[in-house]
Amino acid sequence: MTLTKKIIIYMIIGAFVGLSINIFGLMDNSIVSDYLVGGLFYVVGKIFLYALQMLVVPLVFVSLFCGTTALNDPAMLGKLGGKTLVLYLITTALAISIAISFAYLINPGVGFDLPTDLEFTAKQAPPFVEVLINLVPKNPVEAMASGNMLQIIVFSILLGLSATMAGEPGKRIISIFEDFNVVIMKLVKMVMELAPYAVFALIAKVFAEIGVDAISKLSQYFFTIIFALFVHALVVYPIMLTIFAKLNPIKFLMKMRTPMTFAFGTASSNATIPVTLRTVTERMGVEKSVGSFSIPFGATINMDGTSIMQGVATVFIAQAYGIDLSLSQLGTVVLMATMASIGTAGVPGVGLIMLATVLTQVGIPVEGIGIIIGVDRLLDMTRTAVNVTGDCAVTCIVAKSEGKLDVDVFNNPDSGVIEEK
Ligand code: ASP
Repeated sequence: MTLTKKIIIYMIIGAFVGLSINIFGLMDNSIVSDYLVGGLFYVVGKIFLYALQMLVVPLVFVSLFCGTTALNDPAMLGKLGGKTLVLYLITTALAISIAISFAYLINPGVGFDLPTDLEFTAKQAPPFVEVLINLVPKNPVEAMASGNMLQIIVFSILLGLSATMAGEPGKRIISIFEDFNVVIMKLVKMVMELAPYAVFALIAKVFAEIGVDAISKLSQYFFTIIFALFVHALVVYPIMLTIFAKLNPIKFLMKMRTPMTFAFGTASSNATIPVTLRTVTERMGVEKSVGSFSIPFGATINMDGTSIMQGVATVFIAQAYGIDLSLSQLGTVVLMATMASIGTAGVPGVGLIMLATVLTQVGIPVEGIGIIIGVDRLLDMTRTAVNVTGDCAVTCIVAKSEGKLDVDVFNNPDSGVIEEK
Protein backbone atom coordinates (compact mmCIF):
# COMPACT_ATOMS: atom_id res chain seq x y z
CA MET A 1 0.00 0.00 0.00
CA THR A 2 1.24 3.53 -0.69
CA LEU A 3 1.53 6.08 2.07
CA THR A 4 -1.11 8.26 0.41
CA LYS A 5 -3.71 5.50 0.53
CA LYS A 6 -2.89 4.79 4.16
CA ILE A 7 -3.22 8.47 5.07
CA ILE A 8 -6.57 8.75 3.32
CA ILE A 9 -7.90 5.64 5.07
CA TYR A 10 -6.79 6.94 8.46
CA MET A 11 -8.27 10.32 7.67
CA ILE A 12 -11.66 8.78 6.91
CA ILE A 13 -11.52 6.66 10.06
CA GLY A 14 -10.53 9.79 12.01
CA ALA A 15 -13.53 11.70 10.67
CA PHE A 16 -15.79 8.77 11.50
CA VAL A 17 -14.46 8.41 15.05
CA GLY A 18 -14.62 12.17 15.67
CA LEU A 19 -18.16 12.48 14.33
CA SER A 20 -19.30 9.49 16.38
CA ILE A 21 -17.89 11.09 19.53
CA ASN A 22 -19.70 14.28 18.61
CA ILE A 23 -23.05 12.82 17.60
CA PHE A 24 -23.30 10.43 20.55
CA GLY A 25 -22.51 13.26 22.95
CA LEU A 26 -19.39 11.53 24.27
CA MET A 27 -17.66 14.88 24.71
CA ASP A 28 -19.76 15.28 27.87
CA ASN A 29 -17.70 12.51 29.36
CA SER A 30 -14.52 14.03 30.78
CA ILE A 31 -12.46 10.92 30.05
CA VAL A 32 -13.25 11.27 26.37
CA SER A 33 -13.00 15.06 26.22
CA ASP A 34 -9.95 15.56 28.46
CA TYR A 35 -7.91 12.42 27.95
CA LEU A 36 -8.81 11.17 24.51
CA VAL A 37 -9.70 14.21 22.41
CA GLY A 38 -8.03 16.95 24.47
CA GLY A 39 -5.21 14.60 25.52
CA LEU A 40 -4.10 11.84 23.16
CA PHE A 41 -5.47 13.27 19.88
CA TYR A 42 -4.26 16.74 20.77
CA VAL A 43 -0.75 15.63 21.68
CA VAL A 44 -0.25 13.35 18.67
CA GLY A 45 -1.59 16.00 16.29
CA LYS A 46 0.49 18.80 17.77
CA ILE A 47 3.72 16.78 17.80
CA PHE A 48 3.25 16.05 14.13
CA LEU A 49 2.41 19.65 13.32
CA TYR A 50 5.53 20.85 15.10
CA ALA A 51 7.63 18.23 13.33
CA LEU A 52 6.38 19.54 9.99
CA GLN A 53 6.96 23.15 11.01
CA MET A 54 10.46 22.20 12.16
CA LEU A 55 11.27 21.33 8.55
CA VAL A 56 9.87 24.42 6.88
CA VAL A 57 12.57 27.04 7.49
CA PRO A 58 15.68 24.88 6.91
CA LEU A 59 14.04 23.24 3.92
CA VAL A 60 13.02 26.47 2.22
CA PHE A 61 16.37 28.10 2.92
CA VAL A 62 18.48 25.21 1.68
CA SER A 63 16.39 24.12 -1.28
CA LEU A 64 15.87 27.66 -2.56
CA PHE A 65 19.59 28.33 -2.23
CA CYS A 66 20.28 25.16 -4.24
CA GLY A 67 17.55 26.01 -6.75
CA THR A 68 19.01 29.46 -7.33
CA THR A 69 22.54 28.15 -7.80
CA ALA A 70 21.31 25.40 -10.14
CA LEU A 71 19.57 28.00 -12.29
CA ASN A 72 22.56 30.32 -12.20
CA ASP A 73 20.75 32.93 -14.26
CA PRO A 74 19.38 36.09 -12.58
CA ALA A 75 17.42 37.06 -15.70
CA MET A 76 15.70 33.67 -15.77
CA LEU A 77 15.02 33.96 -12.06
CA GLY A 78 13.33 37.31 -12.63
CA LYS A 79 11.25 35.87 -15.47
CA LEU A 80 10.15 32.88 -13.40
CA GLY A 81 9.37 35.11 -10.43
CA GLY A 82 7.34 37.52 -12.56
CA LYS A 83 5.32 34.79 -14.25
CA THR A 84 4.62 33.06 -10.95
CA LEU A 85 3.52 36.26 -9.26
CA VAL A 86 1.19 37.25 -12.10
CA LEU A 87 -0.40 33.79 -12.24
CA TYR A 88 -0.83 33.72 -8.47
CA LEU A 89 -2.60 37.05 -8.53
CA ILE A 90 -4.78 36.12 -11.50
CA THR A 91 -5.90 32.81 -9.97
CA THR A 92 -6.71 34.54 -6.69
CA ALA A 93 -8.74 37.26 -8.39
CA LEU A 94 -10.52 34.59 -10.46
CA ALA A 95 -11.28 32.54 -7.35
CA ILE A 96 -12.85 35.43 -5.52
CA SER A 97 -14.87 36.48 -8.56
CA ILE A 98 -16.26 32.95 -8.88
CA ALA A 99 -17.07 32.96 -5.17
CA ILE A 100 -18.93 36.27 -5.38
CA SER A 101 -20.92 35.03 -8.39
CA PHE A 102 -21.94 31.85 -6.56
CA ALA A 103 -22.83 33.85 -3.49
CA TYR A 104 -25.17 36.03 -5.53
CA LEU A 105 -26.75 32.97 -7.13
CA ILE A 106 -27.42 31.31 -3.78
CA ASN A 107 -27.94 34.44 -1.61
CA PRO A 108 -26.93 32.70 1.64
CA GLY A 109 -27.40 35.76 3.84
CA VAL A 110 -30.83 36.92 2.65
CA GLY A 111 -33.30 36.65 5.52
CA PHE A 112 -30.60 35.44 7.92
CA ASP A 113 -31.51 36.12 11.54
CA LEU A 114 -28.74 38.34 12.79
CA PRO A 115 -27.74 37.53 16.39
CA THR A 116 -27.61 40.62 18.58
CA ASP A 117 -24.62 39.66 20.72
CA LEU A 118 -21.98 39.63 18.01
CA GLU A 119 -18.39 40.25 18.95
CA PHE A 120 -15.22 40.13 16.96
CA THR A 121 -12.04 42.05 17.56
CA ALA A 122 -10.32 42.56 14.28
CA LYS A 123 -6.59 42.29 13.86
CA GLN A 124 -5.48 44.11 10.76
CA ALA A 125 -3.44 42.63 7.93
CA PRO A 126 -0.22 44.64 7.40
CA PRO A 127 -0.51 47.59 4.97
CA PHE A 128 1.02 47.02 1.53
CA VAL A 129 3.93 49.47 1.92
CA GLU A 130 4.97 47.66 5.10
CA VAL A 131 4.89 44.36 3.24
CA LEU A 132 7.11 45.90 0.57
CA ILE A 133 9.66 47.33 3.00
CA ASN A 134 9.66 44.15 5.03
CA LEU A 135 10.71 42.12 2.03
CA VAL A 136 14.26 43.00 2.99
CA PRO A 137 15.38 40.81 5.87
CA LYS A 138 17.01 43.36 8.14
CA ASN A 139 18.11 40.44 10.26
CA PRO A 140 18.07 37.07 8.44
CA VAL A 141 18.40 35.14 11.68
CA GLU A 142 15.33 36.86 13.04
CA ALA A 143 13.52 36.17 9.75
CA MET A 144 14.26 32.49 10.17
CA ALA A 145 13.44 32.46 13.86
CA SER A 146 10.04 33.98 13.19
CA GLY A 147 9.50 31.99 9.98
CA ASN A 148 9.01 35.09 7.83
CA MET A 149 8.69 33.33 4.51
CA LEU A 150 9.07 36.28 2.13
CA GLN A 151 12.24 37.45 3.91
CA ILE A 152 13.68 33.93 3.91
CA ILE A 153 12.96 33.70 0.19
CA VAL A 154 14.75 37.00 -0.52
CA PHE A 155 17.75 36.03 1.60
CA SER A 156 18.10 32.54 0.10
CA ILE A 157 17.96 33.87 -3.46
CA LEU A 158 20.51 36.62 -2.77
CA LEU A 159 22.85 34.21 -1.04
CA GLY A 160 22.42 31.68 -3.87
CA LEU A 161 23.20 34.31 -6.49
CA SER A 162 26.29 35.48 -4.66
CA ALA A 163 27.50 31.89 -4.22
CA THR A 164 27.40 31.38 -7.98
CA MET A 165 29.53 34.50 -8.44
CA ALA A 166 32.03 33.74 -5.68
CA GLY A 167 34.31 31.28 -7.48
CA GLU A 168 35.86 28.40 -5.55
CA PRO A 169 34.51 29.32 -2.07
CA GLY A 170 31.04 29.58 -3.65
CA LYS A 171 31.42 26.10 -5.17
CA ARG A 172 32.42 24.63 -1.82
CA ILE A 173 29.41 26.16 -0.08
CA ILE A 174 27.09 25.00 -2.86
CA SER A 175 28.29 21.44 -2.50
CA ILE A 176 27.68 21.51 1.27
CA PHE A 177 24.18 22.90 0.75
CA GLU A 178 23.43 20.23 -1.85
CA ASP A 179 24.34 17.52 0.64
CA PHE A 180 22.28 19.26 3.28
CA ASN A 181 19.36 19.35 0.90
CA VAL A 182 19.48 15.58 0.41
CA VAL A 183 19.63 15.06 4.18
CA ILE A 184 16.70 17.33 4.87
CA MET A 185 14.56 15.74 2.14
CA LYS A 186 15.24 12.43 3.87
CA LEU A 187 13.92 13.94 7.09
CA VAL A 188 10.81 15.15 5.24
CA LYS A 189 10.17 11.57 4.18
CA MET A 190 10.68 10.30 7.72
CA VAL A 191 8.20 12.80 9.14
CA MET A 192 5.71 12.00 6.38
CA GLU A 193 5.75 8.36 7.38
CA LEU A 194 4.15 9.33 10.68
CA ALA A 195 1.34 11.11 8.89
CA PRO A 196 -1.41 8.46 8.94
CA TYR A 197 -1.61 8.37 12.75
CA ALA A 198 -1.24 12.12 13.07
CA VAL A 199 -3.86 12.85 10.43
CA PHE A 200 -6.18 10.46 12.22
CA ALA A 201 -5.66 12.37 15.48
CA LEU A 202 -5.98 15.84 13.92
CA ILE A 203 -9.16 15.00 12.04
CA ALA A 204 -10.77 13.05 14.87
CA LYS A 205 -10.22 16.01 17.20
CA VAL A 206 -11.73 18.55 14.82
CA PHE A 207 -14.76 16.41 14.09
CA ALA A 208 -15.30 15.61 17.75
CA GLU A 209 -15.29 19.29 18.63
CA ILE A 210 -17.06 20.69 15.63
CA GLY A 211 -20.35 22.42 16.18
CA VAL A 212 -22.71 20.37 14.02
CA ASP A 213 -25.52 22.70 15.11
CA ALA A 214 -23.53 25.73 14.02
CA ILE A 215 -23.03 24.22 10.58
CA SER A 216 -26.70 23.41 10.16
CA LYS A 217 -27.63 27.01 11.03
CA LEU A 218 -25.12 28.34 8.54
CA SER A 219 -25.54 25.56 6.01
CA GLN A 220 -26.17 27.86 3.04
CA TYR A 221 -23.03 29.87 3.76
CA PHE A 222 -21.03 26.73 4.48
CA PHE A 223 -22.04 24.82 1.38
CA THR A 224 -21.73 27.81 -0.97
CA ILE A 225 -18.06 27.96 0.01
CA ILE A 226 -17.56 24.20 -0.24
CA PHE A 227 -19.20 24.21 -3.67
CA ALA A 228 -17.04 27.10 -4.93
CA LEU A 229 -13.91 25.43 -3.53
CA PHE A 230 -14.69 22.22 -5.37
CA VAL A 231 -15.40 24.04 -8.62
CA HIS A 232 -12.12 25.93 -8.34
CA ALA A 233 -10.06 22.83 -7.55
CA LEU A 234 -11.78 20.38 -9.86
CA VAL A 235 -12.73 22.60 -12.80
CA VAL A 236 -10.67 25.80 -12.92
CA TYR A 237 -7.21 24.33 -12.23
CA PRO A 238 -7.74 21.33 -14.53
CA ILE A 239 -8.80 23.66 -17.36
CA MET A 240 -5.76 25.88 -16.77
CA LEU A 241 -3.40 22.90 -16.68
CA THR A 242 -4.87 21.51 -19.89
CA ILE A 243 -4.88 24.78 -21.82
CA PHE A 244 -1.70 26.46 -20.59
CA ALA A 245 0.52 23.48 -19.87
CA LYS A 246 -1.00 20.58 -21.85
CA LEU A 247 -0.73 18.44 -18.72
CA ASN A 248 -3.16 15.72 -17.72
CA PRO A 249 -5.27 17.18 -14.88
CA ILE A 250 -6.36 13.77 -13.60
CA LYS A 251 -2.74 12.80 -13.03
CA PHE A 252 -2.20 16.14 -11.34
CA LEU A 253 -5.13 15.69 -8.99
CA MET A 254 -4.15 12.10 -8.15
CA LYS A 255 -0.71 13.30 -7.09
CA MET A 256 -2.24 16.18 -5.15
CA ARG A 257 -4.00 13.79 -2.75
CA THR A 258 -1.10 13.71 -0.29
CA PRO A 259 -0.47 17.47 0.05
CA MET A 260 -4.22 18.10 0.06
CA THR A 261 -4.66 15.67 2.94
CA PHE A 262 -1.82 17.29 4.87
CA ALA A 263 -3.26 20.74 4.21
CA PHE A 264 -6.69 19.56 5.31
CA GLY A 265 -5.30 18.00 8.48
CA THR A 266 -3.10 20.94 9.48
CA ALA A 267 -5.08 23.90 8.05
CA SER A 268 -1.74 25.49 7.25
CA SER A 269 -0.15 25.95 3.82
CA ASN A 270 3.07 26.88 5.59
CA ALA A 271 3.29 23.68 7.60
CA THR A 272 2.48 21.74 4.42
CA ILE A 273 5.41 23.26 2.44
CA PRO A 274 7.70 20.23 2.93
CA VAL A 275 5.04 17.92 1.47
CA THR A 276 3.99 20.31 -1.30
CA LEU A 277 7.59 20.88 -2.33
CA ARG A 278 8.32 17.17 -2.36
CA THR A 279 5.20 16.55 -4.46
CA VAL A 280 6.03 19.06 -7.19
CA THR A 281 9.71 18.15 -7.44
CA GLU A 282 9.73 14.39 -6.90
CA ARG A 283 6.22 13.38 -7.98
CA MET A 284 5.48 15.93 -10.72
CA GLY A 285 8.94 16.43 -12.19
CA VAL A 286 9.25 20.19 -11.58
CA GLU A 287 12.87 21.32 -11.39
CA LYS A 288 14.02 22.41 -7.98
CA SER A 289 14.93 25.84 -9.32
CA VAL A 290 11.23 26.52 -9.93
CA GLY A 291 9.54 24.56 -7.13
CA SER A 292 11.82 25.71 -4.32
CA PHE A 293 10.84 29.28 -5.09
CA SER A 294 7.21 29.06 -6.13
CA ILE A 295 5.99 26.74 -3.36
CA PRO A 296 7.04 28.80 -0.30
CA PHE A 297 6.15 31.96 -2.23
CA GLY A 298 2.71 30.54 -2.99
CA ALA A 299 2.16 29.39 0.59
CA THR A 300 2.48 33.04 1.59
CA ILE A 301 0.91 35.01 -1.22
CA ASN A 302 -1.40 32.63 -3.06
CA MET A 303 -4.55 31.71 -1.21
CA ASP A 304 -7.28 30.98 -3.70
CA GLY A 305 -9.33 28.93 -1.28
CA THR A 306 -9.10 31.65 1.33
CA SER A 307 -10.20 34.30 -1.13
CA ILE A 308 -13.22 32.14 -2.01
CA MET A 309 -14.20 32.19 1.65
CA GLN A 310 -13.70 35.96 1.73
CA GLY A 311 -15.88 36.49 -1.34
CA VAL A 312 -18.76 34.41 -0.01
CA ALA A 313 -18.37 35.74 3.54
CA THR A 314 -18.46 39.37 2.38
CA VAL A 315 -21.67 38.86 0.42
CA PHE A 316 -23.17 36.75 3.22
CA ILE A 317 -22.43 39.26 5.98
CA ALA A 318 -23.58 42.18 3.81
CA GLN A 319 -26.85 40.39 3.08
CA ALA A 320 -27.33 39.48 6.73
CA TYR A 321 -26.98 43.17 7.63
CA GLY A 322 -29.19 44.17 4.72
CA ILE A 323 -26.36 46.09 3.03
CA ASP A 324 -26.40 46.32 -0.76
CA LEU A 325 -22.96 46.19 -2.31
CA SER A 326 -22.40 48.20 -5.48
CA LEU A 327 -20.39 46.87 -8.40
CA SER A 328 -17.47 49.11 -7.51
CA GLN A 329 -17.55 47.87 -3.92
CA LEU A 330 -17.41 44.31 -5.24
CA GLY A 331 -14.41 45.35 -7.35
CA THR A 332 -12.79 46.65 -4.15
CA VAL A 333 -13.47 43.31 -2.48
CA VAL A 334 -11.69 41.46 -5.30
CA LEU A 335 -8.73 43.84 -5.19
CA MET A 336 -8.44 43.95 -1.40
CA ALA A 337 -8.74 40.19 -0.95
CA THR A 338 -6.05 39.65 -3.58
CA MET A 339 -3.72 42.22 -2.01
CA ALA A 340 -4.38 41.12 1.58
CA SER A 341 -3.18 37.63 0.75
CA ILE A 342 0.27 38.97 -0.15
CA GLY A 343 1.27 40.00 3.34
CA THR A 344 -0.21 37.21 5.43
CA ALA A 345 1.36 33.83 6.07
CA GLY A 346 -0.44 30.55 5.43
CA VAL A 347 -1.33 29.60 8.97
CA PRO A 348 -4.66 28.50 10.48
CA GLY A 349 -7.32 31.15 10.68
CA VAL A 350 -5.40 33.91 8.95
CA GLY A 351 -8.19 34.17 6.38
CA LEU A 352 -10.41 35.81 8.99
CA ILE A 353 -7.84 38.55 9.58
CA MET A 354 -7.75 39.21 5.87
CA LEU A 355 -11.55 39.21 5.80
CA ALA A 356 -11.58 41.92 8.48
CA THR A 357 -9.47 44.13 6.21
CA VAL A 358 -11.80 43.54 3.27
CA LEU A 359 -14.97 44.23 5.26
CA THR A 360 -13.54 47.45 6.67
CA GLN A 361 -12.75 48.68 3.16
CA VAL A 362 -16.32 48.31 1.99
CA GLY A 363 -17.95 49.52 5.20
CA ILE A 364 -19.44 46.25 6.45
CA PRO A 365 -19.40 45.78 10.26
CA VAL A 366 -16.41 43.63 11.18
CA GLU A 367 -18.42 42.09 14.06
CA GLY A 368 -20.23 40.18 11.31
CA ILE A 369 -17.27 37.80 11.37
CA GLY A 370 -18.65 36.65 14.73
CA ILE A 371 -21.51 34.95 12.82
CA ILE A 372 -19.25 32.70 10.79
CA ILE A 373 -16.40 32.04 13.18
CA GLY A 374 -18.04 28.94 14.64
CA VAL A 375 -17.88 27.06 11.35
CA ASP A 376 -14.56 28.40 10.22
CA ARG A 377 -12.25 25.59 11.26
CA LEU A 378 -13.66 23.02 8.85
CA LEU A 379 -13.78 25.60 6.09
CA ASP A 380 -10.21 26.60 6.92
CA MET A 381 -9.08 23.01 6.47
CA THR A 382 -10.88 22.66 3.17
CA ARG A 383 -9.74 25.99 1.75
CA THR A 384 -6.14 25.27 2.76
CA ALA A 385 -6.30 22.12 0.61
CA VAL A 386 -7.37 24.35 -2.30
CA ASN A 387 -4.65 26.89 -1.49
CA VAL A 388 -1.90 24.30 -1.87
CA THR A 389 -3.53 22.88 -5.01
CA GLY A 390 -3.35 26.37 -6.51
CA ASP A 391 0.32 26.68 -5.58
CA CYS A 392 1.10 23.38 -7.30
CA ALA A 393 -1.01 24.09 -10.40
CA VAL A 394 0.70 27.44 -10.99
CA THR A 395 4.11 25.88 -10.30
CA CYS A 396 3.48 23.19 -12.93
CA ILE A 397 2.24 25.72 -15.49
CA VAL A 398 5.23 28.03 -15.00
CA ALA A 399 7.72 25.15 -14.97
CA LYS A 400 6.26 23.60 -18.11
CA SER A 401 6.28 26.92 -19.96
CA GLU A 402 10.01 27.27 -19.27
CA GLY A 403 10.92 23.66 -20.11
CA LYS A 404 11.55 22.93 -16.45
CA LEU A 405 9.07 20.11 -15.96
CA ASP A 406 9.92 16.51 -16.79
CA VAL A 407 6.73 15.24 -18.42
CA ASP A 408 7.78 11.59 -18.01
CA VAL A 409 8.02 12.03 -14.25
CA PHE A 410 4.70 13.91 -14.24
CA ASN A 411 2.94 11.17 -16.19
CA ASN A 412 4.38 8.26 -14.24
CA PRO A 413 1.98 7.50 -11.37
CA ASP A 414 4.79 5.82 -9.41
CA SER A 415 7.39 8.56 -9.49
CA GLY A 416 8.43 9.65 -6.01
CA VAL A 417 5.79 7.49 -4.37
CA ILE A 418 6.43 6.41 -0.78
CA GLU A 419 5.67 2.74 -0.24
CA GLU A 420 4.53 1.58 3.18
CA LYS A 421 6.55 -1.24 4.61
N1 ASP B 1 -5.20 28.31 6.70
C1 ASP B 1 -5.02 28.92 5.42
C2 ASP B 1 -3.66 28.56 4.86
O1 ASP B 1 -2.78 28.20 5.61
C3 ASP B 1 -5.18 30.40 5.46
C4 ASP B 1 -6.60 30.72 5.85
O2 ASP B 1 -7.47 30.63 4.99
O3 ASP B 1 -6.88 31.03 7.00
O4 ASP B 1 -3.45 28.60 3.68
